Amino acid sequence: MKKTLTMMLAFLLFMSLSISVFAEPQSKPNGPWIQPEQEVKLEALMSPEELEKKLLQINDRARDDRMELDVVGYSATYEYPIYAVKFGEADTDNPKIFIQTQIHGDEQLGTEASVDLIQQLAMSNNKDIRTILDNVTVWFIPMLNPDGSVVFETEQGQSKQRQNLQVWDPTEFGLVEDTAAPWYYRPDFVSGEMGFDVNRDFHPYLDLELGPDNADVIPQDSSEPGVYVTPEAQASRDVFNELQPDLFIDHHHRYSNVVSEDDDRLNTLQLIAQVVDEETVVSYDGVDYQVDEESLNLSKQVNSYVYKALQRGNSPFGAISRFPEVNLPGTALGSYSMNGAAIMLYETRGQQHPYGHTGQKANGQYTQQSYVGLYETLRGFATGEIYDVDPVFYDEEIPYGSPRISTP
Ligand SMILES: [Zn+2]
Repeated sequence: MKKTLTMMLAFLLFMSLSISVFAEPQSKPNGPWIQPEQEVKLEALMSPEELEKKLLQINDRARDDRMELDVVGYSATYEYPIYAVKFGEADTDNPKIFIQTQIHGDEQLGTEASVDLIQQLAMSNNKDIRTILDNVTVWFIPMLNPDGSVVFETEQGQSKQRQNLQVWDPTEFGLVEDTAAPWYYRPDFVSGEMGFDVNRDFHPYLDLELGPDNADVIPQDSSEPGVYVTPEAQASRDVFNELQPDLFIDHHHRYSNVVSEDDDRLNTLQLIAQVVDEETVVSYDGVDYQVDEESLNLSKQVNSYVYKALQRGNSPFGAISRFPEVNLPGTALGSYSMNGAAIMLYETRGQQHPYGHTGQKANGQYTQQSYVGLYETLRGFATGEIYDVDPVFYDEEIPYGSPRISTP
């Protein structure tokens, strides 16, 4: 793939600016950081083909009729199947959870953690797993963006990419050829390939289909929601519509921060319970979409519960803080939270491109951290413990405002 030098330089400039803004405090070197001579091999992580093989294997070996494996769409360019893995029915009184990973192709460890969890749910006879299966419905989309997950080589090492690889074709939607693309159609900053940031392609009106009658909703500004032009966002939206989950979890990655002004440990995870503020209203076809207080409270309970679970005992995953405040109705989390779902965002340290990744050892640790967080969430719903958490804990006890730092 060709790469766009300008984009990379712009990115490096951005990185160096943020470094100079947040020069203090510097972190203790409790990495692991990737060493300069350490070659990163992203092949250790599952490719789309390996994921498919693994899911088919697990499905073959699953006990009873616990697991259902469905193809819910195909990626835009390579036409990889997008899989949903389902435990439990949509039509149930049990709490319903939808876990999605790798909407950004270079953010993979949630997929690794989910597949480990899927394997346990499908094959284990452990008492806690049986309690979860009896009391919770949980559906996964592991690797929503397979096209972005394909490894490619750069001069700086192996990489995956954030965006999908779809080319904007307005005629596909019955629109005239010179119709401007949504703002989130742009070159990937590592590969330089044009594609969509799938995580800006969501709209709170979940049945939106772009066509000549509603071409005026194509967003030209990042504050506006998306219009479901990517098959990846459409697949996610269809699963959401079918399940109507109580909780939606989206798994991402980010760069390095320290926990807070007063705590200079390296952040292993940032989490957030809210990505659209309560005042924001998106109207479509006479319907107003807004975040409601009940689901926001549940979001805070879930985020607090996971935060506490990861702090327990001598946990190596204790350096956690809240993600910065954002207002993003066009993300999956944003649109789903305006449809009554509680939400949780995982932003784990380390991305799988040359400016973000932290090496194999860290990958193992962060995968384990996400596994524990996801597993504990299912257990907390199965036992009802999550509902006992005081949502105020989220606002008052989880560190906030962590400064970004440079690689030492
Ligand atoms: Zn992301």
